[in-house]
Amino acid sequence: MSISARLKDFLNAPPESFPVHESAFLKPQQIVFSAEVRKACEANQCGRYGTCWTCPPGAGDWEKLRDHFLEYENAFVFTTCHPLEDSFDFEGMEEGARVHALADKALMDAFEDCAEPHELAGAGSCSLCAKCTYPDAPCRHPSLARRSMEACGIDVVTLARDAGLHYMNGPNTTTYFSIFFF
Ligand code: SF4
Repeated sequence: MSISARLKDFLNAPPESFPVHESAFLKPQQIVFSAEVRKACEANQCGRYGTCWTCPPGAGDWEKLRDHFLEYENAFVFTTCHPLEDSFDFEGMEEGARVHALADKALMDAFEDCAEPHELAGAGSCSLCAKCTYPDAPCRHPSLARRSMEACGIDVVTLARDAGLHYMNGPNTTTYFSIFFF
């Protein structure tokens, strides 16, 4: 099956399984990678810095990651949008992240037998394992773990603008992004 057919199937999945809100195709060369984004990870506002292979510093050197992603020919970015009770609804945010991770998994499952190079970077830290092996042992699922977009230096605000997607979708909602390189 072609890559475009696989992506079409992903986008046509029933909305109750993983509701894709918006999506766009772009060239990796259009993406802004920035040292400032990566530095922001060090502030550790999410609490995941230094706790996972997919977040800094375990995710690797951001400039090498940038150069690696720029070798791909195409990128596909998608969002999911989730309702919140209010702006302090952290449980709602966690639930949104859980559902977004289902979309990430569905996309990677759709490409499981695809021989063409492909790779996903997503929202926040990898959550495949209840406890990440970092830094004591190698990643348990290196082909499934996806780096955080910020760990790769991807400026998601600018990406949203350049791809014509909404970074925010109104009050009492949270929006998560992923990007798939192929
Ligand atoms: S797959 Fe498991 S070990 Fe690998 S980065 Fe994700 S949580 Fe960590």
